[in-house]
Amino acid sequence: MPAPLLDSFGRLHDNLRISVTDRCNIRCYYCMPEHAVEFVPRSEILSFEEIERFARIAVRLGITKLRLTGGEPLLRRDLAGLVARLGAIEGVRDLALTTNGVLLAGQAEALYRAGLRRINVHLDTLDRERFLSITRRDELGRILEGIEACRRLGFQPIKINAVAVKNLAEPDIVPLARFGRERGIEIRYIEFMPLDAQGIWDRDKVLLAGDIVATLSREICPLIEVPDQDPRAPASQYRFSDGIGSIGFIASVSQPFCLNCNRIRLTADGHLRYCLFALEEFGVKGLLRGGATDGEIEALIRSTVEKKWLGHEINQGRFTPPPRPMYSIGG
Ligand code: SAM
Ligand code: SF4
Repeated sequence: MPAPLLDSFGRLHDNLRISVTDRCNIRCYYCMPEHAVEFVPRSEILSFEEIERFARIAVRLGITKLRLTGGEPLLRRDLAGLVARLGAIEGVRDLALTTNGVLLAGQAEALYRAGLRRINVHLDTLDRERFLSITRRDELGRILEGIEACRRLGFQPIKINAVAVKNLAEPDIVPLARFGRERGIEIRYIEFMPLDAQGIWDRDKVLLAGDIVATLSREICPLIEVPDQDPRAPASQYRFSDGIGSIGFIASVSQPFCLNCNRIRLTADGHLRYCLFALEEFGVKGLLRGGATDGEIEALIRSTVEKKWLGHEINQGRFTPPPRPMYSIGG
């Protein structure tokens, strides 16, 4: 058995997020610029064969959880084929997808047949005009169809990711929570992070979990923090006191969970990162395309984990945002 993937602070790494593309079919303003987005040329994007090989090697080193993301992963032709390949790797215990849901209705069945069960759909609002102003695309209807398709097929869990931006997200909090409660879908709020392409983030634009808890408790029914949560899970969980529905918070800015981080990330263009906010990354594609042995790729994974820092520095004066925005790293 190879030694586990421990970093220099003793954190065990068993979770790999794989970005399969930097392209997207909508333009969320806290992620992408509206115009003139520069995408990586297709020839620089890892093929499914390359991703599968990398994942096999990572799983041998102790990775058990994989999540596909992007850009928008459903833009990759036959993503279900990749799901089937990754799900067949011995040692993968958890395979999940994060998507904006625009293309989900047409692909949900193929994804389900390929073995996918866990899905996170990104949706900030149920209001068409507000959706248009956030994403600069009129796609709310297709996303709702995609969520319904997943429910009919039996995906479990289905979660909705909403970005918590102050002075923007407030009108959507109660309608989204009701939508989730009625459908058995957990709504997860992700604090707005300094990973937008246009440099608009500032601390005052982060809507804090405490404010959302207060609103939901007042308008729907009290939220209660779930006891004995997995300390390695990024979200803190709350349940409505009437037993119907739950809400998660990914409070990366106000309550960083770096000390329990278990994740590494592979970008679509083949770079390995030990943190969303890392200022350095390590080239995998050259190895994959240059005839490297599995042992050489293992060594790169180990050395990336060993170099991992204690945590992001958003809350320190010296914080420097990474040169790549969210869509390019893979959220
Ligand atoms: N396109 C897919 C989607 O939107 O779910 C997958 C990629 S997207 C980069 C992954 C997640 O990042 C989304 O669910 C969205 O909620 C989150 N996200 C994007 N920009 C963000 C930002 N600046 N701060 C916090 N979360 C962000
Ligand atoms: Fe696309 Fe996801 Fe970024 Fe929105 S958050 S622009 S859906 S990659």
